[in-house]
Amino acid sequence: MNIIEKLESGERLNYQDGVALWELDLFTLGKYANEKRRALYEDKAFFNINRHINPTNICKDICKFCAFSANRKNPNPYTMSHEEILNTLDESVKHHITEVHMVSAHNKDAGLEWYMGIFRKIKERFPTLHVKALTAAEINFLATTYDMTSEQIIDLMIENGVDSMPGGGAEIFDEKIREYICKGKVSSKKWMEIHDIWHKKGKKSNATMLFGHVESREHRVDHILRLREQQDRSGGFNAFIPLVYQRSNNYLKVEKFLSSIEILKTYAISRLLLDNIPHIKAYWATSTINLALIAQEFGADDLDGTIEKESIQSAAGAKSSGGLQLQTFLDLIQTSGFVPVQRDSLYNKIETY
Ligand code: SF4
Repeated sequence: MNIIEKLESGERLNYQDGVALWELDLFTLGKYANEKRRALYEDKAFFNINRHINPTNICKDICKFCAFSANRKNPNPYTMSHEEILNTLDESVKHHITEVHMVSAHNKDAGLEWYMGIFRKIKERFPTLHVKALTAAEINFLATTYDMTSEQIIDLMIENGVDSMPGGGAEIFDEKIREYICKGKVSSKKWMEIHDIWHKKGKKSNATMLFGHVESREHRVDHILRLREQQDRSGGFNAFIPLVYQRSNNYLKVEKFLSSIEILKTYAISRLLLDNIPHIKAYWATSTINLALIAQEFGADDLDGTIEKESIQSAAGAKSSGGLQLQTFLDLIQTSGFVPVQRDSLYNKIETY
């Protein structure tokens, strides 16, 4: 059976099929990915109204692709106090955010209570706000720093009010590439184990893939299929988020930026391989809003949200630092031929525009 016959048959695709998909032209690939996307969501494009906060950029790790953490190229270390974070949210709730998305660097001096106490205080002041926080990399950092198990950290997160986990820290699972781009960070195996524990507690998370740096297409297929296997086991991933690598202000020295065709093919292949993760998110902060909208025709069904302020991708060159106004966001989705559906963090519908 060739790859087109396999796509037509609806059979589950394997690694060789995943590699063969890259040989198809963009429009053939897009046609099959779009069919799957429309069968599930018709012309709906999902988004949420959220606020990103990155409470500290002081990090014990040195990932070559990172432009966010304080180092020689970015000598501006900061750690926000709990009061500063709460004051920021006082402003954001005026814009009707339903989620705060918090990802930090691995700050050894901040203390476990600094990490956990903020969740508790957010829930006390904003009881209905969904707290999405702590990547598997952060959980692993906290567990090793404070001589605890990942499960103990997860229990503390739940006790203090974390509702769901973001998908960061996955980067690329291939061990050799991982060793080269982010040596010392959570291993692929541990990343998976942490999500497994989280899912077994009945909780949801997302999963990312950083692509467009030194990895190959085969590494992307391998990454996506490892996630599909994990989803078969634990079933708690809501969304897969391919993150387009940003090349400024870091130590990876990748000269060539990916073509739009390669980025769209990556979304399409993700949709075709991941038959068990419901949502494919084109995170506009890394792909640009225009390409994220086009990606809705190539398998993606979600754009993330209004964000308000973004520090990680914008430090590496993305044009996302100020977020997007809600009305602009809605206009862009509608003029692209899609129906904007505001969702909550767990993909329950809030409003169709
Ligand atoms: S990616 Fe995260 S863990 Fe790596 S250096 Fe940057 S802040 Fe630290």
